[in-house]
Formats: sequence, structure tokens, C-alpha cells
Amino acid sequence: MELDIKRVSKSPVHTAEHLLNATMTKMFACPRSRNAHVERKKCKCDYSLAECPTPEQVTEIEVKINEVIKEAIPVTVEFMPKAEASSVVDLSKLPEDASDTLRIVRIGSYDACACIGAHVGNTSEIGEFKILSHDFKDGVWRVRWKVINFLLALIMITSCAPRSERVIATPPQERHMTGAYTDQREPSEEEVALLRNVTDGQEMAITPLSVSTQVVAGLNYKFWCRYQDGSDYGHCWVVIYRDLQGNFSLTSITKEE
Ligand SMILES: [Zn+2]
Repeated sequence: MELDIKRVSKSPVHTAEHLLNATMTKMFACPRSRNAHVERKKCKCDYSLAECPTPEQVTEIEVKINEVIKEAIPVTVEFMPKAEASSVVDLSKLPEDASDTLRIVRIGSYDACACIGAHVGNTSEIGEFKILSHDFKDGVWRVRWKVINFLLALIMITSCAPRSERVIATPPQERHMTGAYTDQREPSEEEVALLRNVTDGQEMAITPLSVSTQVVAGLNYKFWCRYQDGSDYGHCWVVIYRDLQGNFSLTSITKEE
């Protein structure tokens, strides 16, 4: 499996933008943001409000959005005639020459919006929503925010690697999965933390993509990873050993050509 970086890279933040708009309209009965700047690393949205939200309200926005993210609500797409859509979504932002059939993107019953962008499959793929700062001036509340997303972090590492744009999410198993290793699978949070801990002293940045385990006298973990070592980028195998007492040690890091 190879990931299409350009397509997936902005879908978490863009879907989070839908959630922010929906939350703002629910809490403040204001229009969706008409001036938004959404990038992978940092985003800002402007809302027309009578007054600046209180610190408690700002926290509530963040909490509410993260609740919806945790619920793993499916993001679905349907097509409907403009006349019908006007009862479902706010069409005031729509350009006049928009087609008669609209693409309506729904996030469960939380949000519906006419949109042609790329979205995540369900809200849990967004990551964590975080408000960075905000200010209020002349009836416009500007909020700066980001999402913290494992996949996005990975993309940022890869996106500055001109000679290797694509991340190989699944390792070449036939050459490496000999022995009693399990199939490679997505690492759990604990396994990601384990890799971070054990490779902490390494010069290079290592991002785990998948992991398999092998029962020995203890347990071997074999992680398939992206690494960034100065100007050198690529994939590598990281093997970590857990002994019967539960102590972890780094066995090897092998860069893959
Ligand atoms: Zn959208």
C-alpha cells in the first residue's frame, strides 16, 4: 500500500474545519467562516461575532470538537439538487455559477455542508484538535488552530524529502517476515511510546509505520519506520527486545535501501 500524500495530507485539517464551523454555528449562531486559511501545519478561521468568546467558551469549542472526533463519526457524501439542498445546508457561500447538483458532505448529524474537498472517512482520523491562539477585533473573531495527527507528522517528514515523496506504509514482508514474526500491523499507542522511549537517544527522527512481534524468551518488536537523519531520509527496521522482566532494549536499527 502506498499513500497518496497530496490527497490525504489536508483531509484531516479540512474535515476539522467542517467541525469547527459546525461548532461555531451551534454555539454562537454565527455564519460559517468566510475567511479561512487551512494548511497542514497551522490554520486560521474568522467568524463574525458580537463579542469575543470567553476563555471558558474557547475551551468548550476545543472540548466539543475533540468529543466529536473521538466518536469516530462517519463522513459521508451524497449528491442532491440545489433546491433540495437549500433546506439542508447554508448555500449563501456558494458561487453563483455552482452546478445544479451539489455534493453534500455530512458528518453524522453534526454537520452538513456543500463541499468538493477531500475528507477523512470518519472523524477519529482527524487527530487532536487544538486551538493555538485567538483574538477579537471589529466584530471578527480570528482563531488559530491545528490538528495533531500521527499521519500528518509522518507526511511532514516525507514532504521535505524530494527524492522519496512516497511513504511505503507496508514493508516488503517477503524479505523480512521470516521466522515466527506476526504480520505487520498498525502499532498501538503503547508500542509507539515504546519505540519513542527506546530510540530517544538516536540522532535521527524515527516515525513508526507498522510493527510485528516475535515470541522469544521475552518478546521482539520489529517496527517498520520512516527516518530522517539530517538530509538523509528513508525507511528502516527497528528491533526492540522486551525481556521476561519487562525491560526494553534496542537490538538494531537497519536502514532499508
Ligand atoms: Zn469539505
